[in-house]
Order: sequence, then structure tokens, then C-alpha cells
Amino acid sequence: MTDHLIVGGGIIGLLTARYLRQAGAGVTLLERRQVGRESSWAGGGILSPLYPWRYAAPVNALARWSQPRYRALAEELQADTGIDPEWIQSGLLVLDPDETPRATAWAEKAGARLDIIDRDTLARIEPAVGAHADGGLLFPEFAQVRNPCLLKALRRDVQARGVRIRESAEVSHLLHENGRIRGVATADGGHIAAERVIIACGAWSASLLRELGQAIDIAPVRGQMLLYRGEPGLLKHIVLHRGHYAIPRRDGRLLFGSTMEDVGFDKTVTEQARQELERAAQVLIPALAEVPLERHWAGLRPASPNGIPYIGAHPRIEGLYINAGHFRNGVVMAPASAHLLADLVLGRRPILDPAPFALDTHASAA
Ligand SMILES: Cc1cc2nc3c(=O)[nH]c(=O)nc-3n(C[C@H](O)[C@H](O)[C@H](O)COP(=O)(O)OP(=O)(O)OC[C@H]3O[C@@H](n4cnc5c(N)ncnc54)[C@H](O)[C@@H]3O)c2cc1C
Repeated sequence: MTDHLIVGGGIIGLLTARYLRQAGAGVTLLERRQVGRESSWAGGGILSPLYPWRYAAPVNALARWSQPRYRALAEELQADTGIDPEWIQSGLLVLDPDETPRATAWAEKAGARLDIIDRDTLARIEPAVGAHADGGLLFPEFAQVRNPCLLKALRRDVQARGVRIRESAEVSHLLHENGRIRGVATADGGHIAAERVIIACGAWSASLLRELGQAIDIAPVRGQMLLYRGEPGLLKHIVLHRGHYAIPRRDGRLLFGSTMEDVGFDKTVTEQARQELERAAQVLIPALAEVPLERHWAGLRPASPNGIPYIGAHPRIEGLYINAGHFRNGVVMAPASAHLLADLVLGRRPILDPAPFALDTHASAA
């Protein structure tokens, strides 16, 4: 029997495994396909909510706890695994001047640095941006990671620490008896006993809990992304304009995203989305018209009400926990979410007030 069984090998499951293992717990992680290939792979790796002032306080609480810890996490992972998660403090440049009053008020309250940039400064610091832009809001402290590299590093790290990873192991249902979790059943007919089970299945989390009569509101929202094969230096900052964003990677590749589509568990990419994203990308950065498009993909965000994840114990089944529903901000919120869940599982003093994330109080916290 394993003490802790984590179901789902995205960033949330992997980081939860890491914190539990660091505390000396025995951990097994089950992943239905391959570790780190779903939403956590498909996302952009921006280490901030896109417009933080539009989000509920619990989302910002998780993001603000995680942000200052990401650099050290990336450095530690690189030193221990040889894989660089490419933490870069590229700053977030918001080219939506009408957001200035709310952004300024939020930054002041949150203690985040914000520079108001005029047209000339913008042309100097980010010359690739289209001439239509009339200045912007620069958050110079905000950073990014290259999420596929982060996931590879995390996988190698947790394995080296002794976490057992089983891939192609889909959990079909939970095993419980007399109000206590006993383990899980897998789609191939196997049973795995465990003292504690943690559901970290991203967009797929609701179905495992539904059979327990526990309705949790997590649904897939498709996001399509484009990847350009640019030259280093084309863009220096993460740039956000009317909901679209461009993320420059260190090697010159540039991500452009994304769509928000309510189409169920369908990860197909569409020609219509490609054309819309290409058009928006070329308005924002005209030089992209000459840059080859390398790839186009889609991922499923685990959408919860107001984007507030469920983090905590199941109210009726002892030993069953959930850490899911991170919607658009799962990468930036992951360290805090995983640490908080580990605190609750291990009975430690929690890093943040867990009440807004609890399964039974979640709806009222929004
Ligand atoms: C286009 C796009 C852009 C994004 N950009 C950003 C961004 O810039 N910054 C940011 O912070 N966030 C971003 N996000 C959101 C972020 O990617 C997600 O919130 C986060 O990855 C969720 O992580 P997760 O581990 O919960 O889910 P996932 O990464 O989806 O992992 C869940 C895992 O559980 C497995 N699983 C499911 N069911 C079972 C089962 N029954 N048995 C076993 N395993 C199972 C799945 O196969 C999967 O590997 C973006 C998302 C998308 C799609």
C-alpha cells in the first residue's frame, strides 16, 4: 500500500507529489496517458493572471505566494535535473490603456511594481509592437517559464526523489468504505490500495467525484495557441492586448494565444481559430507576417467558477483530497496550490487560509 496516491500528472499533481515527498511521505502518481502532456503542456507559462485585477482575491493570493518562489524553484530544478525550465523575468506589457485606473489601484494594493509607459517609451523598449499602440502598462517583475521544460524537469526531479510514477494508468473509480478512502480502481481492472488519494486530474476531475454524489464545477475550456519560429530579440516582453498575448521564448520562438471555447473534451484545432489568431498576432506585431508558423495546438483548461481552484479534503470521505480547477492560471498558482494541499494532508499550518478553496464552502467564496 502506498500512503499517498496522486491521480493526474500535470503541473498540479507533480508539484503536489514533490511537496509531499519533501516532507518524507511515500507517493505514487498515476497518469492516464503520459505525464505532463495536457493543459500544463499546452499553456503559455505566464507567471501572472493576464489582468490580475479582474480576478477574485483567492486567485491572486495563490499567484502572489507563488511568484516570488518560482525563480528559486526553476534554479533548483535545473541544478538537480540538468533541465532548464527557462524562468525569464520578461515583464508583462499590457497595451490596454483603458485598464489603467483598475490596474493602478490593484498594483498599489498588491505591492506590485507598475510603470506607465508612453508612446515614445513603448516604441523604444518594444519596437516590434504595431504603431497603433499608444503606450501601456508595464509590470516589470512578472516572469514566464517554458512550461514543457518545467514539466520535464519536475518529472525527473520527483522520480529522483522517490515518487513512483505509473503512466498509461487511468483511474476509473475511487474505492471507499465506511466513509474512508481505500484506494482506486484502474481502467485495466487493477486495484491500488492507498491511505490517501489526491485528485489532480485537471479538466477531467469532476467525473471521478460525481459517483460519490459530490458535484464539483470543473469543465473543459479549449484554448488554441500558435507557435512562431522567430529570431531571438524580436520581442522582449510578454505583450497583452485585448485578451491576446505574445510570449517570447529565449530561443526566439514566440507563442501567440489564445482562444476560449466551450466545446467539451475536444482538443481539435480549427482553421478558423488559426486565421483569427494569425490576424490578431500580425496586428499586434506586424513583423510576424514574415515569420514562419511552426505549430498550432489546443489544450483544455480546467475551468471552475471564477477560476478559484478546489483545494482540500472531501467533506465526507476521509483521506480523499482534491487539487483541481485552476482554469487559466494553473501554472502561476501551482506552487501555492500544491504547498497548501500538502499542508492540509500532512496537518501542517497552512501557508494561506484554505477556506475559499474548500469543497463545501467554495461556491460561497466566489
Ligand atoms: C492555451 C492555454 C494557455 C494557458 N496559459 C497559461 C499561462 O500562461 N499561465 C498559467 O498559469 N496557466 C495557463 N494555462 C492554464 C494551465 O495550463 C492549467 O490551469 C494547468 O495546466 C492545470 O494543471 P493540471 O495539472 O490541473 O491539469 P493538466 O495539466 O491537464 O493535468 C491533468 C492530468 O490528469 C490526467 N488525468 C485525467 N484523468 C485521469 C484519470 N482518470 N486517471 C489518471 N490520470 C488522469 C490527464 O491525463 C492530465 O495529464 C493555460 C492553459 C491553456 C490550455
